[in-house]
This record gives sequence, C-alpha cells and structure tokens, in this order.
Amino acid sequence: MVMEERSWISDLPGQVEMVEVSPRDGLQIIEKFVPTGKKVELINALIGAGIRRMEVTSFVHPKFVPQLKDATDVVKSIERRDCVCMAMVPNLKGAERAVEAGVDMLDIVVSASESHNRSNVRRSVDESLEGFVPIFALAEEADVQVRASLATAFGCPFEGDVPVSQVLRVCHRLQDLSVMEIALCDTTGMANPVQVSKVVKACKHEIPDIQWAAHFHNTRGAGSANLLAALTEGITVFDASIAGLGGCPFAPGATGNVPTEDMVHMLHEMGIETGIDLPALISTAQLAEEIIGETLPGQVMKAGRTCDLHPSPALAE
Ligand code: ZN
Repeated sequence: MVMEERSWISDLPGQVEMVEVSPRDGLQIIEKFVPTGKKVELINALIGAGIRRMEVTSFVHPKFVPQLKDATDVVKSIERRDCVCMAMVPNLKGAERAVEAGVDMLDIVVSASESHNRSNVRRSVDESLEGFVPIFALAEEADVQVRASLATAFGCPFEGDVPVSQVLRVCHRLQDLSVMEIALCDTTGMANPVQVSKVVKACKHEIPDIQWAAHFHNTRGAGSANLLAALTEGITVFDASIAGLGGCPFAPGATGNVPTEDMVHMLHEMGIETGIDLPALISTAQLAEEIIGETLPGQVMKAGRTCDLHPSPALAE
C-alpha cells in the first residue's frame, strides 16, 4: 500500500493577490517631498507590471503626513486600467475626500493595542471603532468597499505581546461593521512564523466568513518567512511595497514592508501565480530607487532572478 505523503507543500494555494502599498506605506516616511508627477509615474508603472490592487495614497491631514498632501491629485492623475484604487482614510473627513476623489476602496486603520492606536491616531481603540460607523455609511452610499488594516496584530512596540483575544475582539467589531477584508499587520516587524500561524488560525477559525489579508514588515528580516506561514494557513492576499520602500512614521524603528518583487519572485519559483509580470516589476523597483535617490532594500532587483543564469567561468577557459 502506498501512503500518500502530506506536508505543508500540499496545502499551498495556486494563486495569490499582491496588494501594492508603496505609494502610501512606502512614501509616507520619506521626508523629502516626492513630486506628484513622480508618484504617478511609479503608480502607473506598477499597474503596467500587473498590480491589480494598490493603496495609492492616504487622505490623512497634510499637517501629519505632508508627503501625502497631494492625495486627490494623485488619485485623479493615475491611469487605473483595471487596478482597484484603494486609499487609507484616518477619519470621516478623509473618507469624504477619498470618495470625492473617486477611489474604489477605503482602507481604515485601527491598532490591536491601545498605546499604538493612541500614538497613531490619538484615540482609544473603541473611539476609533465608533468613528468608523459613519465611514461605513458613507461607503455604502458611495458604493465603495471598505477593508480594515489591523495594526500591531503580532506585537506592539510600546506594549510587547498583543494577546490573540485582543486581536479577535477588534476583528469581531470590524466584522459587525461589515468590513470586506481585514489585513493583519505586523506594523513594526515583531512577528515570527509560529506566532503568525497561531494568530491566523485563530482568526480564521473565529471569523471564517471574511477575507483575510496579511501585511508584513521586514524590520527584523522575517518578512518572507512570516508570509510563508500565513500562506500555509490559507491567506491569499498580501500587502507588499516595491523595493521594500517605507515604514510607519508613528512607530519607533519601523522599516519597510516586504519587497513586492522579492515576494513575487519567491511565489513564482514556488509555482504560485500572481498575475504579475516579474521583469516589469523589477524594472519598477529600479524606478523606485531612481525616484527616491537612495538604495532600497529589495534583493531580487540586485541579484537578478534565479532563472537569470550566468556564463560558467570554467567554460570560458
Ligand atoms: Zn505597514
């Protein structure tokens, strides 16, 4: 009798959706203002490479994030094609501006930990959740979807461990508001793969009828391992940032998201589809470096793809 071998490999999905967040999560930490035209060039290149959902900006007050003061202009200037245009909104005023600009999807943010939420949006978690009620009403009226980003879902830089019960409490409240998707965010790169498995398993078990996404930062180098852990637990929507651009301006020591092109490279090598043209994405990572004027953390754009072979020096002799 032949025993069927089972391992985590058997459970991998055939396809995942990459949500590009560099124009928001990436650019918000850059101090020097990136001209609107350059932002639009980067966004258009990402769409050209096959990105089908992107957080293109945040409608935060320009006083707090001056880099994103051109949110409306960016939304109105990009060539969207069939890319879902998502924008972060911190409050009702921001949501009104986003809807007026013509976005397809709102991204609301709340932290699983009190102190991070207070530092991020100067409100308690419950005050944030209360504040979402009119945003959902507006979204319904305007026929746009709402997804929620749950910050510090895997640890808080001020409080340390965040109990899963606390994560679930906020997720249940978001579900009651009829959110379309919840992204579990490792805002400051504190997650490890075992913890990711446990948190994702608990969330999917408690709230099975919602779309789950994950958002990992590479602050401590564990981004791709955490993505793999979430993938094996059945998450198929991942935020990422081209060339690893970014971080959170309101959390100490936060560095960039997992680089989109590195994740797409790994997934494609594993036989998992993303619908993205990898060479075009790598060129876009190089464009991002050019625009920012600094070396960015992405690795595949420096090393090349696994399939880009080199002439053997032995044969040249
Ligand atoms: Zn982030």
